[in-house]
Amino acid sequence: MKHQRLILATRNAGKITELRAILAAADLDIELVGADAYPDVPDVKETGVTFAENALLKAHALAQATGHPAVADDSGLCVDVLGGAPGIFSARWAGRHGDDQANLDLLLAQLSDIADEHRAAHFACAAALALPDGTERVVEGKLEGTLRHTPAGTGGFGYDPILQPEGETRTCAELTADEKNAISHRGKAFRALAPVVRELLG
Ligand code: IMP
Repeated sequence: MKHQRLILATRNAGKITELRAILAAADLDIELVGADAYPDVPDVKETGVTFAENALLKAHALAQATGHPAVADDSGLCVDVLGGAPGIFSARWAGRHGDDQANLDLLLAQLSDIADEHRAAHFACAAALALPDGTERVVEGKLEGTLRHTPAGTGGFGYDPILQPEGETRTCAELTADEKNAISHRGKAFRALAPVVRELLG
């Protein structure tokens, strides 16, 4: 495979490290750089109504603006009893984008009367690859679990303290970063993307 630059549409250093490790493990000679390397590229409005649509919007915008292949992900928490909400609204469920504590508190309050057996939920992630010529691919990953009544753990971010993965006794916020990456929606989506990167950039 020839050496290529791949841009990841995020300012989150953790996501860059995670995808870089997955591409290295897949033996792909790709130079992965964060969107921060292109400060003039404006943020894209997430006007899609699915994780896949939003991931594709971000990947295409970045590929067009930089002239390099680009990867973007979009993710969220889907609660069965809420019909899949907060879903694409996960980051701004309580109104203000990125207020993790308020989002989590509001969700717990909404579910306060819901018994354990009806608290199924999953994290979902779509990861998209777009090339400057318009070629696109999107893959998805899920992490199934149930929602606790009270938060536990200090690791992770977002809804991690209330999502207990299937087969676990701990919440995502009580797992180590490696343990979470091994089973997470984003880990699964990024690992599924590696062969796609090989196919299109090889
Ligand atoms: P983004 O796609 O990284 O912007 O994430 C959207 C929102 O979904 C975040 O702000 C969190 O509220 C939620 N979310 C996505 N992935 C996770 C996760 O792994 N743990 C906890 N919350 C998450």
